[in-house]
Amino acid sequence: MARRAPLDSATDCNGFAPLAGKHLLGIEGLDRPCVEALLERADAFADLPPRARLDHLNGLTVFTVFFENSTRTRVSFDLAARKIGASVVNVPISTSSIKKGESLLDTALTLNAMHPDILVMRHPNAGAALLLANYVDAAVVNAGDGRHEHPTQALLDALTIRRRLGRIEGLNITICGDITNSRVARSNIHLLSILGANLRLVAPPTLVPPQISAMGVECYHDMAAGLAGADIVMLLRLQQERMQGAETPSQREYFHLYGLTAEKLALAKAEALIMHPGPMNRGVEISSELADDVERSLITAQVEIGVAVRMACLESLGAPLLGRAQ
Ligand code: ASP
Repeated sequence: MARRAPLDSATDCNGFAPLAGKHLLGIEGLDRPCVEALLERADAFADLPPRARLDHLNGLTVFTVFFENSTRTRVSFDLAARKIGASVVNVPISTSSIKKGESLLDTALTLNAMHPDILVMRHPNAGAALLLANYVDAAVVNAGDGRHEHPTQALLDALTIRRRLGRIEGLNITICGDITNSRVARSNIHLLSILGANLRLVAPPTLVPPQISAMGVECYHDMAAGLAGADIVMLLRLQQERMQGAETPSQREYFHLYGLTAEKLALAKAEALIMHPGPMNRGVEISSELADDVERSLITAQVEIGVAVRMACLESLGAPLLGRAQ
């Protein structure tokens, strides 16, 4: 693993551009050196005092365009962009011309005419970020596209684990819940595999996509088997908004079979930690008791580290536009 960047390197962006000249559309296709460089950089940003302000992207404009609801991701990108010196425009989709029938492409061309440098987009359709990237001049960051990918969530999950446990290589990580509908699962499977974790999935048979075995992960339908020996248990929400029909039993039955409780967590390693990308549904995929267990839960740390990860991603895309990086 690359050495941790010293703190003073966080204030100097010369030469930092692992995503230079590209977009951040997914984890698939990134190589380990690129991922390690982003994590190193984000690690240095995470060590800065909370009120630190940098000027690395002074003069650049970031648009956030969210076609799906978001609390954490939108605020996190907004804050990250401001902390690193960019101007931010949050495009208000619910009151925009999309509601008057404008297509995604026409909206993209309209936004493009205002010359954003970086466009951060969330959209319900898989592939929407790639489509956008083909039509705009800005660098595009995928903040979640349907069931496809959510790359900055996976990066922040990886950095949260690394900062807590010092490594990812060789850890047993169990991802539990609605895998089929989860872009977080897909991005994490790519990223945690690149970083050498032993990955397991636990889900009801109806919530595992058929092509999952091609991704090289073990899949279980029984919590006890999937949790045995886990260092990290990552929980996912039932994403009802993407379900077609009766993929799940009642929420009560789901909690009984797949909801994480202290009793089930006892099947993992004694010191196993819990993660969740949010939003959480207490009493469905996680007990309220565990959600609030500050000893075992990394959920708040994930949110905090997310800002540093987004600073690193925005800087990597933006600094080359200012001629500050090779
Ligand atoms: N916030 C994550 C996402 O946008 C997870 C979720 O919604 O359950 O994919």
